[in-house]
Amino acid sequence: NHRDRVDNFNGGPAALPVEALEKAQAELLNFAETGASIVEISHRSKAYEAVHQQTKALLKELLEVPDDYEILFLQGGASLQFAMVAMNLLDNEHTGAYALTGSWSKKAREEAARVGRVRTVFDGAESEFRTIPGVEQVVPAPGDAYLHLTSNNTIYGTQWHAFPDTGEVPLVADMSSDILSHRIPVRQFSLIYAGAQKNLGPAGVTVVIIKSSLVARAKAIAEEKNIPVILRYDLHAKHDSLYNTPPVFAIYLMGLVLEWLRDHGGVAQAEARGRQKGKLIYDAIDNSDGFYRGYAAPDSRSYTNVTFNLPTRELEQAFLAGAEENGMIGLGGHRSVGGCRASIYNAVSVEACERLAEYMDSFRRVHG
Ligand code: PLP
Repeated sequence: NHRDRVDNFNGGPAALPVEALEKAQAELLNFAETGASIVEISHRSKAYEAVHQQTKALLKELLEVPDDYEILFLQGGASLQFAMVAMNLLDNEHTGAYALTGSWSKKAREEAARVGRVRTVFDGAESEFRTIPGVEQVVPAPGDAYLHLTSNNTIYGTQWHAFPDTGEVPLVADMSSDILSHRIPVRQFSLIYAGAQKNLGPAGVTVVIIKSSLVARAKAIAEEKNIPVILRYDLHAKHDSLYNTPPVFAIYLMGLVLEWLRDHGGVAQAEARGRQKGKLIYDAIDNSDGFYRGYAAPDSRSYTNVTFNLPTRELEQAFLAGAEENGMIGLGGHRSVGGCRASIYNAVSVEACERLAEYMDSFRRVHG
């Protein structure tokens, strides 16, 4: 059907559902009978307003976001959230607590350290970021403004499978690479953020889900510190993410991706498919007599980013080249760590993972 489409294992920007792309293509020149494309009409128009609200409603439904949470569509990527979290939530009396499980959590902590006081509650560097701590190892202190974690470590391929109960201390999570891939207890978090370019849609929009009571606290802190209004959560909440021009195309396409997810069984089915996809590739690793070596400790393995090495750099290069010849792209590890990585976000099919597992087996039989 889509012979010109590759099996796309990119880490991000990453594969999107072809049905969503086709719908965008079909209505690109004439959106909702406006005679113009979605990127050529006002963000205050009725046609766009419907997209904005529908996308928000779908996200709320799919993630089961409670009513006392705000859903914001911001820009600046997850990286801007590293700074905004600290700017809006850290005052002089409190400390930002960080669980360091990879490069992105380190960056989040570094940005916060430019704004206020931070501390580290867990440092995965000791295990080369192969492990996720047990929840009992991640304990907030009374002076913490929040506890921050990265739910899935895109680069190292590790994932939290249970989250700490932080009591009164708000739990903040960067879910950029596993949002909507499995069910999560939203109530356990006070703030969740995610750049869109993995499971949500194209780069350019960042989703922030924040408890209303935390917006109120953020407002007080932002006023006290007089931070620029454009960086304030309370401002964006008050204006329903329409204070200034939102990234209309990214929000629109995210809406189409969310429709696709809803029509394919929602998050519960994404989770079931995710387990199946992950198992196919982890089995190919585990049944390879050590030819493929998984990077993550088995109990910390990610179901969205499967990281592994081959015996030598040369074999890795040959593996990646052979994969491309077989129509599988994006299997190189992140430039900072090398090796191989299969990113298997929601839009990557079970069949694509079967083809990858088969290729891994046949490559091993030839080169092992
Ligand atoms: N956090 C995680 C977990 C990521 O995987 C990424 C990017 O891949 C980022 C943050 C940075 O996101 P952005 O490029 O949207 O700033």
